[in-house]
Amino acid sequence: MRDQADFAKKVLAFLSHLDEDDAGPDPHQAAKQLGIPRQDLIVLSRNENPYGPSPLVGAALQDGQFHRYPDSRPFLEALAGYTGFSPEWLVAGAGMDEIISTICRIFLGPGDRALIPVPTYNFYALAAGLCGARPEYRTRIVGSAMDPRLPGLKMVFLCSPNNPTGEALSEDSVRSVLEKTDAIVFLDEAYIEFAGKSLAGLVMEYPNLVVGRTLSKAFGLAGMRLGYAIAPPWIAEQYRRVAPMFSISSPSLAAGTAALDDLDWMKECVRRIVSERERMRAKLPCALPSQANFLFLQTSRRSKALAEQLLCRGIIIRDCSSFHGCGERCLRVTVGRREENDRFLEELEILDGKKD
Ligand code: PMP
Repeated sequence: MRDQADFAKKVLAFLSHLDEDDAGPDPHQAAKQLGIPRQDLIVLSRNENPYGPSPLVGAALQDGQFHRYPDSRPFLEALAGYTGFSPEWLVAGAGMDEIISTICRIFLGPGDRALIPVPTYNFYALAAGLCGARPEYRTRIVGSAMDPRLPGLKMVFLCSPNNPTGEALSEDSVRSVLEKTDAIVFLDEAYIEFAGKSLAGLVMEYPNLVVGRTLSKAFGLAGMRLGYAIAPPWIAEQYRRVAPMFSISSPSLAAGTAALDDLDWMKECVRRIVSERERMRAKLPCALPSQANFLFLQTSRRSKALAEQLLCRGIIIRDCSSFHGCGERCLRVTVGRREENDRFLEELEILDGKKD
């Protein structure tokens, strides 16, 4: 009893120190406050695909057997076709967030350490911390490999391309981490379709590597909550043992299977988004090169104020000050449709002439 109380105290203390993960203003709430219809708001804060999923998804949702528990096999088989890994190397979850939480629950416990190069996706620290592990933050240095040797290290989080900065990791830098540690290395490839080269093939060489993926981004299915991981069979087996058996709903599985059946649609979305990304970047000297579906902007003014001013003009982008290690002058903007991006560029130019 006493141990449990101590553990709860430690976890709660950790929670009070944690940077709040703030996905930015809620679009419905924002539209209401501005007194405009939701569809008039330009939402460039959540790295969604503005073109949505393949039209095959709508058709697949028509004929569901909703009184039955979901069957994930057709989805796993479609994933096998897409990834080139057989189903024993694949696990699926309700979004990659569920995959991250479950992997943490399998491998982390009180007193363990989890290495997190920052700035990066905030959820890693939350998921690790809730298992009682201590997040160890390191500043990301682009082009330089990180040394993962640390006593008590049980997990390393790598994100490529990285959210929010957009750069992809080289194969050499990932290999260099894997060569130096037996800790589980979670490589998050949520945005890999926009970057081109995946490093998932390394899973066959390193028994401690797990590669996380999602259908929320390039496949346009953020609302369906579909993630998966490519993992060595020994990890995939443990995963299946502990994860809830039916966490992905039948409509989501049907949607994911249909989306994976129409790779041409996904590739055309990626082509348009990448072309728009480069067009925007050419107009934004403050943007870093990106291999994802968003741009990371380093601003001379405070990002919070700038994001609020854009919000007043009906545009939501992501103020990055809630990302650990980002500081107060960084913004992330999702690449939207051409007309949305143009509105954003125009409004930013107007605001740029003004002071906080
Ligand atoms: N990893 C990264 C880097 C992300 O940016 C996100 C979502 N924004 C996720 C994982 C979670 O994705 P999902 O929607 O599949 O839970």
